Amino acid sequence: MAKIVVTGGAGFIGSHIVERFLSAGHSVTVVDNLSSGSLSNLFDGAEFTEIDIRSKDIRPLLRSLAPDILIHTAAQMSVRASMEDPTFDADVNVVGLVNILQSFVPGKLPYVVFLSTGGAIYGEQDTFPAKEDHALKPTSIYGLAKHVGEEYLEFWAREFQLKHAVLRLANVYGPRQNPHGEAGVVAIFNKKLIAGETPTINGKGEQTRDFVYVKDVARAVESVCAQQVRGVFNIGTGRETSVNTLYKMIVKSLNKDTPAAYGEAKAGEQMRSCIDASAALKAFDWTPEVSLETGCLETSEWFKGQ
Ligand code: NAD
Repeated sequence: MAKIVVTGGAGFIGSHIVERFLSAGHSVTVVDNLSSGSLSNLFDGAEFTEIDIRSKDIRPLLRSLAPDILIHTAAQMSVRASMEDPTFDADVNVVGLVNILQSFVPGKLPYVVFLSTGGAIYGEQDTFPAKEDHALKPTSIYGLAKHVGEEYLEFWAREFQLKHAVLRLANVYGPRQNPHGEAGVVAIFNKKLIAGETPTINGKGEQTRDFVYVKDVARAVESVCAQQVRGVFNIGTGRETSVNTLYKMIVKSLNKDTPAAYGEAKAGEQMRSCIDASAALKAFDWTPEVSLETGCLETSEWFKGQ
């Protein structure tokens, strides 16, 4: 049994990671300021402290918890918000991460898993699907901050012997999803269609994304931790799906026939995104198992129950 801290464990992806570790019998503590997460996402059996990752008070807390493993999921995760307020984004996504790292003295650092982004770090891709060595040309402040976060971790590894893995997640979707995140479109379409409203697709809907199911992501985190693998790994499906195709799948999952409305394309939005996860397969035997069709059905079932 390992002692695990999950920052942001009251959020969408964090809560699935917590659920998975608890069911494997590990001891889990969640630290979260509940800014976008929710108490209803917390599981019995997990300890919880409401605290901001930027607070100096988190340092003695983390030192006293002395985790074997720390999963850093807490973040400002809205691409749009990062463009509107770059300072706030850097404060949470860069300074918050450094504050966490600074909590531990060298020699007593936990194994750290950092949730980065495969959807926003590469920017407009030159090759499809992108491998980890693809050039990093983020088109958003959010993607830039994740890139900087990865560099801080690399520095800590070089200078302070941190052991860590970076998981660059594609667009994650599934139950408990927050509509404001990277793949928030799945949550938005479900919520609007269930409420009898007409969802709006930004632009022509031919922009593509790599949609990966949240339970596959939680399994990737568990697998990388089990072997304490070091490195940078894409976690995605390698499959490109247009927003129009995704919309059709969700309409079908909900047994609806509502046509979408079309609006203005959003400034700064990438046209295509798709990542290659073969390095994760090689390093810790991870590959996605849930198809988009099955994942959409499970997600729509969950939203219907809300
Ligand atoms: P989320 O908003 O549901 O989860 C983030 C959690 O962090 C929330 O519970 C929130 O309350 C908490 N948090 C935010 N700021 C905090 C702070 N200052 N102090 C303490 N807690 C704070 O988002 P999510 O979609 O679950 O994203 C989790 C992680 O995965 C993020 O790091 C995000 O960048 C990354 N990621 C998400 C996606 C995606 O498609 N959703 C894709 C790639 C990477």
